[in-house]
Amino acid sequence: FTPGGPKIHEEKILVTVRMRPLSRKEQAMYDLIAWDCIDEHTIVFKNPNHERTATTHAFDKVFGLECSTQKVYEEGAKDVALSALTGMNATIFAYGQTSSGKTFTMRGITENAVKDIYEHIRNHPERDFVLRVSAMEIYNETVIDLLNRESGPLRLLDDPEKGTIVEKLVEEAVKDGQHLRHLISICEAQRQVGETALNDKSSRSHQIFRLTIKSSLRESSGRVKSFIASLNLVDLAGSERASQTNADGTRLKEGSHINRSLLTLTTVIRKLSGGKRSGHVPYRDSKLTRILQSSLGGNARTAIICTMSPALSHVEQTRNTLSFATSAK
Ligand code: ADP
Ligand code: MG
Repeated sequence: FTPGGPKIHEEKILVTVRMRPLSRKEQAMYDLIAWDCIDEHTIVFKNPNHERTATTHAFDKVFGLECSTQKVYEEGAKDVALSALTGMNATIFAYGQTSSGKTFTMRGITENAVKDIYEHIRNHPERDFVLRVSAMEIYNETVIDLLNRESGPLRLLDDPEKGTIVEKLVEEAVKDGQHLRHLISICEAQRQVGETALNDKSSRSHQIFRLTIKSSLRESSGRVKSFIASLNLVDLAGSERASQTNADGTRLKEGSHINRSLLTLTTVIRKLSGGKRSGHVPYRDSKLTRILQSSLGGNARTAIICTMSPALSHVEQTRNTLSFATSAK
C-alpha cells in the first residue's frame, strides 16, 4: 500500500505450512512420517516405503519438524503483525486439524509479536501509542467475551462507519508489556472454561485475540496526526470441521459437523486470493468473517499458518489442509 496510490492492496495472502514432530502417541502407535520438506517452499508426500511420489506442494514457506516457533514467527508472521504499528489492519490465523499444533503455534506467535511491538514502541519515542486488548471466543455461532465471560452471548451490530461491531465487548487498556502478558493469560484460562464438560470444545471454537493500536504524532505545527489499526491473532476450530466430505470422499449427512464460521472463512479466503475482487465475498455469512471483515482483504494484511501432523495416519486430513493452503495463495 502506497499512500496516494491505488486503494486496493495487491499483495497476496502470506501462506505458510508448519509440520510438527510426531507426537508421543503417534510414536507409540509406530506411526510413520509421511511427508518430507525438500526445500524451504516444498513439501512432498512419501509413500509408506519412503519412496517419493510426484505429488509436491509449494508454498510461500514450509517449516519442517525441528523448526522453532521463533523462525515460524520471523518468516511467517512478523511483517504482517508489525504492519498494525503502521496503521494497517492485520490478521494472523492458524489453520489445521485438531492436534496439528495451532494453539502451540499461535502462543509462540503472540509472544514474539508482543515482544516486537514493545520494542517498536521503545524505538519510536516521538510517537504516542495506546494499546487496547479484546478477546472473543466463537462457539456454535455464539460470541463470548473472554475478558468478561459473565456478559453472556454478544450481539454483532452494524455501524455505518466502523462496520461490524461487537456490542458490549470489553476493550481493556494495556498499561505495559507485563500487563499485556497478564491479559493474554486471563484469556488462556477463560478458554479452558467448559473444556471438560465439552471435551471437543477446543476443536469446535475459534479464538480471536485482538490488539488495537492507536498511534499519534505531534507535528512541529502542533497538529496531531494519528491512526488506529488492529492486529487479530486467531486460533481456529479444527479444520476437519470445514470439510464437507468424509475421508472416503462421501458427503456427510450430518450438518452439525460443519462449522459455519470456518466454512465461510475458507470461502472468503479463496475469493480474496482468487483475484476476482468484483465477485461477491460472503463476509456476512458467519460471525467470524463479520467480526474480521475490516481486517481481511482490502488494505488489510493476512498471514495463514497451516499446521499439520507428519503422521501417515493423518494423511487425509493433511491433504485437506494442504489443499486449502494451495487455494489460499
Ligand atoms: P491444536 O491446537 O491444533 O489442536 P496443539 O497446539 O494443542 O494442537 O498441539 C497438539 C500437541 O502437540 C500439544 O501437546 C503441543 O504441545 C504439541 N505440539 C504442537 N506443535 C508442536 C511443535 N511444533 N513442536 C513440539 N510440540 C508441538
Ligand atoms: Mg488448539
